[in-house]
Amino acid sequence: MTTVLEGRGLSKRFGGLWALRGVDFRLEEGEILGLIGPNGSGKTTLFNVVTGFLKPTEGRVVAFGEDITALPPYKICQRGIARTFQIARPFSDLTVLDNVVIGALLRTGDPEEAVEKAKNILDFVGLYRKARDLGKNLTTIERKHLELAKALSTEPKILLLDEVMAGLKPAEMDAILKTLVRIRDSGVSEIVVEHVMRAIEAICDRVIVLDYGEKIAEGKPREVMANGKVIDAYLGREYRLA
Ligand code: ADP
Ligand code: MG
Repeated sequence: MTTVLEGRGLSKRFGGLWALRGVDFRLEEGEILGLIGPNGSGKTTLFNVVTGFLKPTEGRVVAFGEDITALPPYKICQRGIARTFQIARPFSDLTVLDNVVIGALLRTGDPEEAVEKAKNILDFVGLYRKARDLGKNLTTIERKHLELAKALSTEPKILLLDEVMAGLKPAEMDAILKTLVRIRDSGVSEIVVEHVMRAIEAICDRVIVLDYGEKIAEGKPREVMANGKVIDAYLGREYRLA
């Protein structure tokens, strides 16, 4: 197995609060890794640190064997790491197509080529028929797919997904889950932050659990969901399996 992304002793302090504390993790090539934990446990902060939006107080981020801790976000994106945001904010006065073209321009200076790539990505996420609509006129599920398309437009090898299923109905969730698996099958490793345990169990190879910024468990989804510490910190008793 090849490790594509690694956090080594990552800590992030905001004033007196440790949003992350000594977190080690690895993402293997071709893997979908779940990242779960209560609200405020540090999941989004971990994504911000990996993508260079925040610098860690301590620790290193290593991608494809190289230390990227000090790099600015656009350079980390160039290295092949993309993310979605917990609050999806499409450029609301641009068309769906142009929302995706912007990211594609990271990889090519040729506008026609960028448009071609963007169309292919919209087709891949099932939004092609909306290409000419404005970002602000999309439904919730369409906005989620646009968020995925924007992230894919930079041609990532690693994709970090922050609660992309929040606010969706079960059938819509299934559509997103299928897309996430197809993205993985296309050669992109993923870290998925999600509160819906059914979704985590369906697609994740492994899961890590944060609580108050610390990693409290790691393992296969079923093992982690049966872990007493995880149940007490996050899941509650109804998840106790035996
Ligand atoms: P999660 O995504 O797991 O809900 P976050 O990573 O957003 O958690 O937040 C972890 C903790 O760090 C929370 O207590 C939050 O209030 C705090 N926090 C996050 N970002 C900032 C910031 N920019 N400044 C100060 N505190 C922050
Ligand atoms: Mg969050």
